[in-house]
Amino acid sequence: MELAVNPAIAKGLVLVGTAVMMAIRAPHGYRNRTVKVAASYKTRLETGLLALAWIGFVAPLIWVASSVFSFADFPLLTGPLVTGVVCLGISLWLFYRSHADLGTNWSVTLEVHERHRLITEGVYRHIRHPMYLAVGLYSIGQALIIPNWVAGPANLIAFSILFAFRVRAEERMMIEGFGAEYVAYSARTSRLIPGVW
Ligand code: SAH
Repeated sequence: MELAVNPAIAKGLVLVGTAVMMAIRAPHGYRNRTVKVAASYKTRLETGLLALAWIGFVAPLIWVASSVFSFADFPLLTGPLVTGVVCLGISLWLFYRSHADLGTNWSVTLEVHERHRLITEGVYRHIRHPMYLAVGLYSIGQALIIPNWVAGPANLIAFSILFAFRVRAEERMMIEGFGAEYVAYSARTSRLIPGVW
């Protein structure tokens, strides 16, 4: 029999994970305020997707801070908890590395900057979307750790929808911005999983 553990552990992990994610992104968001945008691809769909992602990000915090989702609670078992912690660890490392590699080229939404450089090294060497892989792994980790049917998968569902709508639009934008350079980069890399997709 697997042991049920205190859900307070999951609450602590959600808070620590959220704080680390925000701490990784904050300096990049702050610095990039002054970066000049050459072409914005922020459509109404993109705005809606960002709002959805925000809801997915906040739902676990609502679960930590209140009892509105308590009707959907279930026992937390050690297996999913440990697997989830491994996912969170890997995802936070990858989230950190992808921000460090993109530097001033990073943005929350789809845009090409005035002095945008195509990054093809570091965690971008083998896959084109390491940051999305990081967020995907993070949301899988949350789904495993949070013993609640609403708050647990909220981030995973919201991010999957954002990713499904965004990835092709982003690659089209990159081809418009970088032409043959991005086509060649695409030909030698995978989207998310090296050698697979
Ligand atoms: N899809 C990437 C980046 C997410 S941030 C990832 O998952 O790692 C989104 C912004 O990053 C886009 O607006 C685009 O301008 C920029 N971007 C995406 N791939 C890039 C690359 N290889 N080099 C430079 N900028 C890139």
